[in-house]
Amino acid sequence: MDGFAVLSTDVVNAKPNQPVTLNVVADIPAGQSSKVSVKPGQSARITTGAPMPNGTDAVVPVEETDFNYRDSGTPAPSQVKIYRSVKKNEYIRPKGQDVQKGDVILTPKCRLRPQDLGMLAMLGEAKVSVFRKPRVGLLSTGDELLPVGTQITPGKIYDSNAYTLTALVERYGGDPIDLGISADRAEAVKSQLEQAVQNDVDLIISSAGVSVGAFDFVRSVVDEHGHLNFWRVNMRPGKPLVFGNYRNIPFFGLPGNPVSAFVGFEVFIRPALLKLAGLEIHTRKSHPVELTEKIESDGRESYLRGIVEEQNGHWVAVLTGHQGSGNLLSLVQANALLIVPAGVTSLPPGAIVQAWFLNDESVML
Ligand code: AMP
Ligand code: MG
Repeated sequence: MDGFAVLSTDVVNAKPNQPVTLNVVADIPAGQSSKVSVKPGQSARITTGAPMPNGTDAVVPVEETDFNYRDSGTPAPSQVKIYRSVKKNEYIRPKGQDVQKGDVILTPKCRLRPQDLGMLAMLGEAKVSVFRKPRVGLLSTGDELLPVGTQITPGKIYDSNAYTLTALVERYGGDPIDLGISADRAEAVKSQLEQAVQNDVDLIISSAGVSVGAFDFVRSVVDEHGHLNFWRVNMRPGKPLVFGNYRNIPFFGLPGNPVSAFVGFEVFIRPALLKLAGLEIHTRKSHPVELTEKIESDGRESYLRGIVEEQNGHWVAVLTGHQGSGNLLSLVQANALLIVPAGVTSLPPGAIVQAWFLNDESVML
């Protein structure tokens, strides 16, 4: 507190109409420490953040003295009138009030939040061991893909997944490495995967070419030079998703449809990335929301795009537009994924489903 460091017993009788006058024997701005020993009847001018001088046990705020309302830069007075009493330790922050020797401040495998970094700095910890950000190789496959920024031509579309996936990798703490677009040919896919290896990535993510089409080569290339753990999952969208490893690097092959790629990432890759980043907790918070309309599903675990709003203290959800897996707008307009469990084919208005909030700043948890 900006004021005067005193011995509380000196000022027990101080009142506005009966001030106690003390000699001022030191001036201690923040950043300095005084070796002066303040004796009974004496005081020291002090500012917030300065250490207390010996002999004092409380601070009288400057507002409670006759030295109130002085311009900054005014030198300390030789005497000060104190208008109120203070208790021992009043307006003092004792050493160790916040942190004491032996206290556990942070546990391993946590994510360092802004305030955690501040605490480490406060304790003078200039270095801490951390996991490196997972390096994630991203590759798009498909003869129809053009990089955005080039002239569109008949039969072609822009490679939008590269952007969505890059941003998702960044959101969940990874370091994306763009490996570009490969044609729908086995050698093209293979050379792109080799680039991933050369880039020393911790994880490879591809999009498209994992379905049952005549030009879907991704799976066979991974199978030949690595291992396939699973292909096709009971979800919608995102069914053709594949997981394995390419030359011992974990590999996820996402379907090409933009919504499928996004949902497949959220369901499978997000927890994998958090784990690779060294985090202990990988589960995602879901929230119960009430449907306002009937929902149909084919019985696979379904992730529908919706807008969730708070109404009368609970969350209600409406679907966003056309739910086709190529319709990215449904996801752009959505603020949540509504999860219909496997085995459920129809839900009436009023039914409760779990939802993942997509705009939540705490998506890491
Ligand atoms: P596929 O998984 O190869 O069967 O592709 C499914 C659909 O996703 C097709 O309509 C593709 O044109 C489309 N697609 C594939 N890759 C991308 C991409 N990188 N960006 C946007 N759409 C894509
Ligand atoms: Mg394709």
